[in-house]
Amino acid sequence: MRIGAPKEQSPETRVAMTPDSAKAIRKLGHDCLIQAGAGAASGFSDAEYEAAGVEVVKTAPALWNQSDVVVKVNKPTEAEAKRLKEGMTLISFVGPSEDNALMEMAADEGATIVAMEMVPRISRAQKMDALSSMANIAGYRATIEAANQFGRFLNGQVTAAGKVPPAKVLVVGAGVAGLAAIGTATSLGAQVYAFDVRPEVSEQIESMGAEFVFLDFEEAQDGSETGGYAAPSSPEFREAQLAKFRELAPEMDIVITTALIPGRPAPELWTEDMVQSMKPGSVVVDLAAANGGNCTLTKRGAVVVKHGVRIIGYDDYASRMGAQASTLYANNIRHMLADLTPEKDGVIVHDMEDDVIRGATVVHEGAITWPPPPPKTK
Ligand code: NAD
Repeated sequence: MRIGAPKEQSPETRVAMTPDSAKAIRKLGHDCLIQAGAGAASGFSDAEYEAAGVEVVKTAPALWNQSDVVVKVNKPTEAEAKRLKEGMTLISFVGPSEDNALMEMAADEGATIVAMEMVPRISRAQKMDALSSMANIAGYRATIEAANQFGRFLNGQVTAAGKVPPAKVLVVGAGVAGLAAIGTATSLGAQVYAFDVRPEVSEQIESMGAEFVFLDFEEAQDGSETGGYAAPSSPEFREAQLAKFRELAPEMDIVITTALIPGRPAPELWTEDMVQSMKPGSVVVDLAAANGGNCTLTKRGAVVVKHGVRIIGYDDYASRMGAQASTLYANNIRHMLADLTPEKDGVIVHDMEDDVIRGATVVHEGAITWPPPPPKTK
């Protein structure tokens, strides 16, 4: 099969195929194509692709025309969606829960779509889990952005010019992004505290050198009932949580919020009065900005200064690290292609009995197959 990666729309810096991932895809028996300049924003030149045996195609229409499988980062634009045709497979982030139009267009044409955000979060599929690989980058970059906006050291220092205490960092939500933010902040020498509604993450928080913020509350959430994800908190739990945050706010130099509940707007957890009680020069990074924000003052895509506190609402952390993000995302994609090419003979076998392939397939040969049934394995 011919596997092609088009150039993403600016300002996206990522690309779904790197020279290294192309080499691995070619070992599966496929041919690889890339649109000219598609890797430039993440540091991969056309010459590097050519050296890896990839055919460089001049234009987007030519790339789509010549590919049997198109691999992308972002959901196709309307113009791209119109290029889907019978027998073609698209592998990309597509946001199936937000918009049916793309799936309907693909189904009408008889195409197939594999949605990377739908890869089941089971152990076997970790190598294809692009949500996790991108969340890991977002958490790392959130700490770096915070350090960049914060006018002080993160580590404690004793210098001839004076003694400096370590910065205090609070991470709210210790999923994949939160744990990456914790790891980065502790490695920079900050004193890190972290909170999550799922008490089972306390060990992971502590193993990364942070202190788990304990909430003395009878109602402990059972994560096993929600597949490891958080469920909405009761009003009483929320009040207890906010009271704890009000107590911590004046002490914290940096707050990184990552709290999300699948299928719902992000919970509002860092309120204006908390921001007001923080020291001037403190920083809030709201990683939930794209889902409505955990901080009530967040402006998506921007940095705002309120009550002397900088509030970062970026929604493009992975794109801010295009080289790293492309490498990991392209690896997720090539592992997906490996599962779709069981005999390594360049023949795609779209096995809808396979939990991972079934879970991620939102349109199959002209039929909408979203939402999928729950996976049978863990
Ligand atoms: P997420 O992005 O949905 O949420 C981020 C975090 O916010 C979660 O830890 C959640 O508990 C927390 N949160 C929600 N409401 C909160 C509140 N009010 N206050 C504080 N924190 C709150 O989560 P994620 O990073 O995608 O991961 C969630 C789970 O999925 C974890 O258990 C993780 O280990 C698991 N996971 C499993 C796999 C796998 O097995 N392949 C891969 C990735 C993640």
